[in-house]
Amino acid sequence: MSNNIRNLWLPYSQMKTIPTPLKAVKTLGTKIYLENGSTLIDGISSWWTACHGHNHPHIKNSIKKQVDKMSHVMFGGLIHDQAIELSSRIIKTLPQEFYKVFFSDSGSIAVEVALKMAVQYWKNRGEENKTKFIYFKHAYHGDSSGAMAVSDPDEGMHSIFKNYFTKHIQSDLPKCKRTEIDFMNLLRKNEHSIAGIIIEPLLQAAGGMKTHSPKIINSIENIRKKFKVLLIFDEIATGFGRTGTMYALNQTNTIPDIICLGKAITGGSISLAATIATKKIYNSFLSYDENFALMHGPTYMANPVACAAANASLDLFEKENRIEQVIEIQNRLEKGLHECLNINGVRDVRVIGAMGAVQLNNIENDIKWLKKKFISKGVWLRPYGDIVYTMPPFVISNKELNKIIVSITDILHEWSIKKNN
Ligand SMILES: *Cc1c(COP(=O)(O)O)cnc(C)c1O
Repeated sequence: MSNNIRNLWLPYSQMKTIPTPLKAVKTLGTKIYLENGSTLIDGISSWWTACHGHNHPHIKNSIKKQVDKMSHVMFGGLIHDQAIELSSRIIKTLPQEFYKVFFSDSGSIAVEVALKMAVQYWKNRGEENKTKFIYFKHAYHGDSSGAMAVSDPDEGMHSIFKNYFTKHIQSDLPKCKRTEIDFMNLLRKNEHSIAGIIIEPLLQAAGGMKTHSPKIINSIENIRKKFKVLLIFDEIATGFGRTGTMYALNQTNTIPDIICLGKAITGGSISLAATIATKKIYNSFLSYDENFALMHGPTYMANPVACAAANASLDLFEKENRIEQVIEIQNRLEKGLHECLNINGVRDVRVIGAMGAVQLNNIENDIKWLKKKFISKGVWLRPYGDIVYTMPPFVISNKELNKIIVSITDILHEWSIKKNN
């Protein structure tokens, strides 16, 4: 096979200067096998999805069985067992307020659906003007226009499109008395036009691996309770154990109205996402008037193969000690990455669950160098912005995790020396 990428357009890449990408030929467990014969430890679980490791036999077999029966059928007017089972299993993993699961194909679309649900919730109740959202600095909710519009345009990757999308309202996280008051005033002033608040609880991931405590979420909740405003949790990155509990919301006293799931939902095997609403939200859609129906329906919605993969992934969460593995990874990352604080040029080290990030001063011109260095050490890490981070599969061995940690510390030492000479 050829390595000619003439007709491929790659994501987030300047195609004129991009180095020829590596070709993957096989994945298994924590490893990515390359055509050139080398293997890499997948230190970021392929965009945070492969929580059980790649190609887990249980998920693979579930997919194969489903493909033999029915790889797809439209969801308009037809249903199937995999979707029925998955919806009720997802609801069982969530607080009892949650009731209805709306499936889609990708996280961005799960966010679009959540935003539409929130706007239509108010419309169904006769409040036509509540169409704006509050989002937070450093937020990232996806690449489609609705999702971009509630992502931080300066910190994220969407600054080019700033003038294209709908304007919503950006806020700082209410981390202190002053920002709490600002946040409250923002709500008070705009309550008439605000449908909801959207946040990535505990970990703002793509916006720079920014962590915050459950207290912040609870204080957002305490303030929003005083207003007629919905709360949406985007748990596309944090869901399925990543922060040390099944969902980040389990570490808070807050129950949102809508939650978005994606990424690790199929254990990194195939695309699927879900938007889950509480009974309160769902009930506002019930009417003899057809205009009250939720007007959304992706063509491949609730694809049976994807649902089979997600059901198999939930089996693994039930049968194996994933959350304990996450806590173990957290302890090791905390110990291992702490050393980076002694490196000249390191600004911060942040760990939550199975996510460890080192924030640096000024790496703009060193990203390509860093990426190459990690590959030369046999680990697949993708620094971005001012961040070097790992989000390993939860099944990673101590030895492999250690290799990731040592690679990060060694390479950052080298980077620091290079930088200061
Ligand atoms: C990745 C991500 C999305 C977008 O999901 P896609 O599947 O890439 O569309 C949305 N929100 C958060 C928090 C994410 O991490």
